Amino acid sequence: TDLAHIRNFSIVAHIDHGKSTLADRLIQSTNTVAERDMKEQLLDSMDIERERGITIKANTVRIDYLAQDGETYVLNLIDTPGHVDFAYEVSRSMRAVEGSLLVVDSTQGVEAQTLANVYQAIDADHEIVPVLNKIDLPASDCDRVAEQIEDVIGIDASDAIRVSAKSGIGIEDTLEAIVKRLPAPKGDRDAPLKAMLVDSWYDAYLGVVVLVRIMDGVLKKGQRIKMMQTNAVYPVDRVGVFRPAMTAIDELGPGEIGFITASIKQVRDTKVGDTITTDKKGVETPLPGFKPSQPVVFCGLFPVDSAEFEDLRDAIEKLALNDASFSYEMETSAALGFGFRCGFLGLLHLEVIRDRIEREYDIDLITTAPSVIYHIFMRDGEKIDLHNPADMPDPSTVDHIEEPRIKATIMVPDEYLGDVLKLCQDRRGIQEDLTYAGSRAMVVYDLPLNEVVFDFYDRLKSVTKGYASFDYQMKGYRTDNLVKMQVLVNDEPVDALSTMVHRDRAETRGRAMCEKLKDLIPRHMFKIPIQAAIGGKVIARETLSALRKDVTAKCYGGDATRKKKLLEKQKAGKKKMRQFGKVDIPQEAFISALKMD
Ligand code: GDP
Ligand code: MG
Repeated sequence: TDLAHIRNFSIVAHIDHGKSTLADRLIQSTNTVAERDMKEQLLDSMDIERERGITIKANTVRIDYLAQDGETYVLNLIDTPGHVDFAYEVSRSMRAVEGSLLVVDSTQGVEAQTLANVYQAIDADHEIVPVLNKIDLPASDCDRVAEQIEDVIGIDASDAIRVSAKSGIGIEDTLEAIVKRLPAPKGDRDAPLKAMLVDSWYDAYLGVVVLVRIMDGVLKKGQRIKMMQTNAVYPVDRVGVFRPAMTAIDELGPGEIGFITASIKQVRDTKVGDTITTDKKGVETPLPGFKPSQPVVFCGLFPVDSAEFEDLRDAIEKLALNDASFSYEMETSAALGFGFRCGFLGLLHLEVIRDRIEREYDIDLITTAPSVIYHIFMRDGEKIDLHNPADMPDPSTVDHIEEPRIKATIMVPDEYLGDVLKLCQDRRGIQEDLTYAGSRAMVVYDLPLNEVVFDFYDRLKSVTKGYASFDYQMKGYRTDNLVKMQVLVNDEPVDALSTMVHRDRAETRGRAMCEKLKDLIPRHMFKIPIQAAIGGKVIARETLSALRKDVTAKCYGGDATRKKKLLEKQKAGKKKMRQFGKVDIPQEAFISALKMD
């Protein structure tokens, strides 16, 4: 296809504003897919994505559109994930296209993720076409929302397209706007091959599939290509496009988006953002690279049944092959045995991986408290990245500790503003900005990531009855008065319950944890002290009193079979516990104890 007849675009929106529905409509109205193959939310392929209604991996589709000018255009849509955890995937797919449809629900208006995503599009120099969706609903107020887009985002919304993705209104207008208002890609067919590696994933039939955007030159089957970052050379096996099913074609030219396979062994051998060129007579300078997505949240995953450790290893290795942003290493915990310390892009990413292990591999998991990466500066000048509070060095050898902070943007109706400010304050937030767009307030807070990873979303949703929207960006590290808090059960430290806390909050957190554990740990034959401590100094304490009598004493030594049964029952009950010293701690205690209410 010649460049003038190509348009590449993405759709950006806040979750639930109708991005997937609109994408389906665009595909359907151009007969890209036969009617009988059309199922809802074509682009959201994984089960979890469908159930949760979110898009995780970016997906792509190529649409042929016969425009009103009588010409046929090739439209390449790259769908991007809407959730904050996957902001990095959004930014990289944005670099592969020239324009964006900005979908805003006309009954709701601009939300936190609308802003975050549209700023990424602006950063990528996109032409942006605003689309006001859900005009079929009585609460739709296009004039107000168009004005809000101009006020808050600062782009012209006077010719925003009015659409109902659900009932199919405005779809033709949207397709025309893509052709008329978005720029055609640029590129030189006769130049050496220069292609961007946009994404890659593992396909059970094809092996590693690489999504590419051609900048210059032509990519063909049989060609020997070179990945410029790794210098690895591969012969190209297949070249194709997504309609949205993978369809082989002869070649991909400048401006085009498609896939290749090239007997690449694992997803990790492909570096997202890398430049692909030919082995011989290739380009010298690569495209400006992406910065790799780094895991920011870590937690331990342990099998409930320790006999399933090898199955868990297998599951984690398979998932990691397909997800380069997920990291893992083996971990042993005195309390939980063998498991893995895993790194994630955020909490949703963590939940998705955990769900997939439980569901697709049928392994019950214990998840330890999520932790962020702390920078530990030692007195001897060494710097350590701490992923696991259990590994914290002796405090007397530590000079200072830095923690990661985020810039959080929260949009919320007026009446809940007070609750939101209080929540952020409680989480050690520093208010940076507070503005109004109509009756909605936009607050910007500088918050420690550590205070957000555990249950911030849940709390925010509950204090605002679901009306707030939230988005964040990593901001950098800052020194604070942080300490490791240990929990001792029967005078033995339990490593899986160690957490990093701010010194000023330590007593409150410690007390809450001891109280919770007292309820979660069953009584034993002896008295059990439960303590929270900082470097040997106890800051909170509860005592679990002893059971008064030996349970078997009830049997009066008389009935031997009854006594045996009772002991067996006790033993079976113990299986769901982990023995720690002389104390049995139930599995659920490891997570429940860390929840902050
Ligand atoms: P996404 O999260 O942006 O991908 O949003 P979806 O496309 O999944 O849509 C979220 C919800 O809004 C779904 O229940 C859709 O059926 C509904 N929806 C999408 N577009 C429209 C529309 O134009 N009108 C109405 N009434 N509902 C819509
Ligand atoms: Mg969606």
